[in-house]
Amino acid sequence: MAQLRARIEVSEDGLFRQVRLRGLPQKLVYQFVAPPKDPPQILNGNMAAIALNPWATMGNHDLHIEEAVDATLLDNLRDFQAIWALWFPDKFRKIKITADEIIDEYRAPVQQELESRAILSLSCGVDSMFSLLELMTSDHRSVKLTDTLLVHGFDYPLSARQGFGNLQTQAAGASDMFGLDLWVVKTNWRAFCPDWEFTHIQGNSAIQHQFNATHRVGFLADDRWLGLPKPENNGDSNSLVTKTLLSSSVFQTRGTGGTTERTDKISAIGRRPELLRKLRVCWEGPRNGANCGDCEKCVRTQLGLLAANVPKPWPFPIELTPRRVREMQLKSDILVGDIKLILARLQSMTQPNREIIEAVEQAVERYGHHAEATPLTGNGNSL
Ligand SMILES: [Zn+2]
Repeated sequence: MAQLRARIEVSEDGLFRQVRLRGLPQKLVYQFVAPPKDPPQILNGNMAAIALNPWATMGNHDLHIEEAVDATLLDNLRDFQAIWALWFPDKFRKIKITADEIIDEYRAPVQQELESRAILSLSCGVDSMFSLLELMTSDHRSVKLTDTLLVHGFDYPLSARQGFGNLQTQAAGASDMFGLDLWVVKTNWRAFCPDWEFTHIQGNSAIQHQFNATHRVGFLADDRWLGLPKPENNGDSNSLVTKTLLSSSVFQTRGTGGTTERTDKISAIGRRPELLRKLRVCWEGPRNGANCGDCEKCVRTQLGLLAANVPKPWPFPIELTPRRVREMQLKSDILVGDIKLILARLQSMTQPNREIIEAVEQAVERYGHHAEATPLTGNGNSL
């Protein structure tokens, strides 16, 4: 198996960093945009090991990082690969990652006051907005959320500049509500990684690990309710099990919010109208920084708002109608599972909306017919 060698390069001002592969033209780039303070220093090659993990496992290349890499992270990545090779055998293989030096990162001196800092990836969707709220209001955390991260180059392609600018305004507003610093990072992940959407959790984690000189935890919001039967066995690319394996001995990657059902997340966000105004769930409509109101996710989120009895205004440009609900394109069992939970809530309301309930039932029934004809699977990235 061919081994690829990777190195990290950082610009003098620290704003631009890239991971290069010797002998190959491909490179993975990161640009920090208008950082709230000096950009974080990269301590070691941990971020490169995570960033290249999907690329190498999909291409069946062994990987050598020309930097020091933490031993715990390498062990974790080996377990991560074994699980993904089991869940997604058509896509991912087990490969070997080596490094110039294998270190026990936890033995390095850590500045005491920085030990408890955490960063949360914020997309302004239901899961990350709820996690923001929960992390800022719960009182039992061993870490303190101090920063948020918004990535340009995942569901907002780099070409969608104006739309991303609008999204950034919402993320900045939400972060400001809690006195947090927002970091915005541009990346060519979509062009670099062969299945960028499926692997964007690793893409996200690789950026969070660039904060490993100053932070101890990177939070990635869970998008699947852990109350569903055997959620981890469904081959979820955002699985809490494998996400946690993107941790080094010092910088942990943690999931958050998975024990709260999506409608309860919507309800919590709905109790904060200022936060609700900034909610952006749409990923199928135009990339303009707003919700289209018409795609499956926009419709399902509005159903959640209805089921949670959240008073209007809602951040959608068009009204929820029975027709839109009926025509909702449910594309996976995971989404149908979520819609059934919402349906149960709608049915148990004191003044149930019969027309909407009937439309939801019809959408579910239509999916059933379609699924029989064409078996569908979900990738867990669209809940
Ligand atoms: Zn939409």
